[in-house]
Amino acid sequence: MLPESITKLSKILTKIPNIGPKSAEKLALWFSGYGMAYAKDLGMVLTELHNLVGICPDCGYFSDGQDKICLYCLDSTREDSILCLVEQNVDIIDIEESKAFKGRYFVLGGVISPLEGVTISDLPFEKLKEKIISKEIKEIIIALGATTEADVTTMYLKEFLQEVSVKITVLGRGIAVGTQIHYAGKKSLVEAFRIRETLDPQ
Ligand SMILES: [Zn+2]
Repeated sequence: MLPESITKLSKILTKIPNIGPKSAEKLALWFSGYGMAYAKDLGMVLTELHNLVGICPDCGYFSDGQDKICLYCLDSTREDSILCLVEQNVDIIDIEESKAFKGRYFVLGGVISPLEGVTISDLPFEKLKEKIISKEIKEIIIALGATTEADVTTMYLKEFLQEVSVKITVLGRGIAVGTQIHYAGKKSLVEAFRIRETLDPQ
């Protein structure tokens, strides 16, 4: 039987992606013993991170503080009229690394997934529409990956944005079926952006 504080820490650690209960317990034990000084440093850095890293209110990417606009939204050299729609803010990191895109972003924060309980009302579609209208976006590139949930979301968007005068494109076949943006790979992303296809209006 382990002390309650160690059990508590291992439970918190299991929330970290790819950390299972066994690894979490090992880490918790290490922190309470040999890693005490490190634990103090880590605690400070994490608190600082929470205070210093925010989410951009304009696009949903990481920014340098609460309610601060991110670097990509502030960058005046980027194309204003093209918007790339991604599922998660970390997808932007992959797209930026591939250098496939130089416009603006919008993070949806998820895709429609009845199985996981994510419905239309859980996602910021209205905010997206407002952004397209107010920023006079000419083209929206749907870069939600090649999953079934992404396809459902794309179909919904096509209908939802019907009255808005915007060209809707989807990434081309560079990305294998079933793949999320993060696993697509740089070369595939560049190709997928290059051969993006326009969705026909209904
Ligand atoms: Zn931003």
